[in-house]
Parts: sequence; structure tokens; C-alpha cells
Amino acid sequence: MQYIRQDFQNPECVHVLFSNRAYASILSEVIQHNRNETGGVLIGNIYNRVWYIVETIDSGIFTVNSPTFFRWDQNYVNHVISVRRNVYKYPPSILGFWHRHPGSLDTFSAMDEMTIRRTLKSCPHGLISMLVNIDPDFRMTCYYCFGKILMSVSYDYGDEYFLSDILACASPQELIGRSPQAKTLRVKPHATISPKQFAKRFQAVSGRIVPGKS
Ligand SMILES: [Zn+2]
Repeated sequence: MQYIRQDFQNPECVHVLFSNRAYASILSEVIQHNRNETGGVLIGNIYNRVWYIVETIDSGIFTVNSPTFFRWDQNYVNHVISVRRNVYKYPPSILGFWHRHPGSLDTFSAMDEMTIRRTLKSCPHGLISMLVNIDPDFRMTCYYCFGKILMSVSYDYGDEYFLSDILACASPQELIGRSPQAKTLRVKPHATISPKQFAKRFQAVSGRIVPGKS
């Protein structure tokens, strides 16, 4: 495959955005695996040639991780994607993948390219393949892959860049509408206390956040 510089005239992809959750998930995953390779699946939506990554799905339970190789748990990944995507107002799709690389290697191995070519057969809009290096700083390199081309593409992260609809959860009505029980199931609106009253009653006194048990 051939590497090219970012082309802002590209008809499919001009920028990648990561939500706070997606960015934190990648960083957390990399830190937990120390020097070993790891990776995940990028899910999100495309709007106006910008690829919005709302979440990343971790590589799973039965994975293989070494400093130069990693393989994910396909069953786990497929399961989690189908569960997570349904929570959103606009269910995200698989937009690509990321994985950690050793040292400063921020281009793809022959095996990586093979995987990209194979996956592209089912991705008419292309896909994002992202590499993470720690050399010594945490660094991400995004490529938009299409045909035989690997185009470097700029990115940013932060929910403030996102259209609110892309991060929005589906409403109870929308969830019911997607279900086989759409004709019979009802979810009544529920509120024990209004947000305004809650703030007045419970947040009036200064509190502290209690760490959760792990
Ligand atoms: Zn690789």
C-alpha cells in the first residue's frame, strides 16, 4: 500500500475526532498493558467528512499480547459492539481499529497492511487505522485507509468538538421502537425529584466524592 500526506480534498475523510471517553479508553488500555501491544475497535459516526469516534471497544478477555504482537478476542469484541451501539440515539458503526506499536514505529507492518486490505473489502467508505506509540510521550497517528492508499489524517479529542446528537443516548421511546415489543411495552416517565430540587436539597451542603470500590 502507498502512504500519502493528508489531502483536505479527500471526499470521504478530512479529520478524526475522539470523544473524551474514547481517548481516555485508549490511554487507559495502553497504560494497563505497559510494554505489550494492545488495541481496540473504533466505533462512531461520519458527518461532513469528519469521523467522530464515540467509543473504543477493548480487545477482550482471551487476547494475545506481546511487545511486538497482539490478537484480540473476536467473540468478545463482536458482542460488546452490538451491546454498546444500541444505547445511542444514532447507533455508531465500526469506523476502524487502533493498536499500540513498539518504539517509534508509526507505520504498518506487512501483516497490518494485509489486515487493512482484507477489512477494506467490507468498508465502502474506507476505514481509520490508528497507531499508538510511547517514545517516550503518548502519541497517536491516524491513517485513513482506502483502496491501496494510507493517508495520514489529523485528529483532535474532546466532547466539546462533537455534535451533541452523536453522543446522545437513545430515549426510552427510541429504544422501545427498535424492539420486538414495540407495540406492547411502555416506559412511563419517572422522576422522584426534579434536578433543580435535587441540587437545592442534596448539593447545598459541600460534599466529597467517595471513591468507588474496585
Ligand atoms: Zn502493527
